[in-house]
Amino acid sequence: MAKKFVRAIFPGSFDPITNGHLDVIKRGIKLFDELIVAVGNSPMKDALFTAKERVEMIKPLVAGIEGVSVQSYDCLTVEYAASVGATAMLRGLRNFTDIQYELQLAMTNRAVAGIETVFVMTSEQYGFTSSTLIREIAMLGGNVSNLIPQDIFAKLRKRLAEIGTRQERDNCIE
Ligand code: ADP
Repeated sequence: MAKKFVRAIFPGSFDPITNGHLDVIKRGIKLFDELIVAVGNSPMKDALFTAKERVEMIKPLVAGIEGVSVQSYDCLTVEYAASVGATAMLRGLRNFTDIQYELQLAMTNRAVAGIETVFVMTSEQYGFTSSTLIREIAMLGGNVSNLIPQDIFAKLRKRLAEIGTRQERDNCIE
């Protein structure tokens, strides 16, 4: 029997992309023929980067991984998946909170659109890495350079300087 071609999407906000996301991408592509990293362009009140910027930041990081591409989208994730001919969705799991949320999402997406979700468990060293936490730590001047790619760290620092958040200071006393 001929092997079926499977295109999957990895949807997320990726604001910014982290080493945890990259790890999911590298392990996830082994399960599919093609994987599209799909940057959601939904309005986020605390977004640091535009969807276009996020796509451009991710592109060089996945350029060397065969079968992986990047796109942004601004509709329902399942509608986007159908529009690109994807039959599966890749998601990462870090903890019980993720499992609870992702289970509900996966079941809903299967019920409304018949799309299957494939999960990969986080690598131990990234189990606590989230874009939200990285943004918060970086905004308070913390060093997140070992949790995100070097170039992303530089762009994050630049953006935070542009918007004038408290970055490095000698002490915490106001
Ligand atoms: P975050 O949850 O970090 O704000 P996204 O909304 O962009 O990021 O997440 C997209 C997908 O990536 C979700 O399935 C999320 O569970 C997964 N993910 C994010 N960080 C990690 C990580 N460190 N390890 C495994 N999966 C992750």
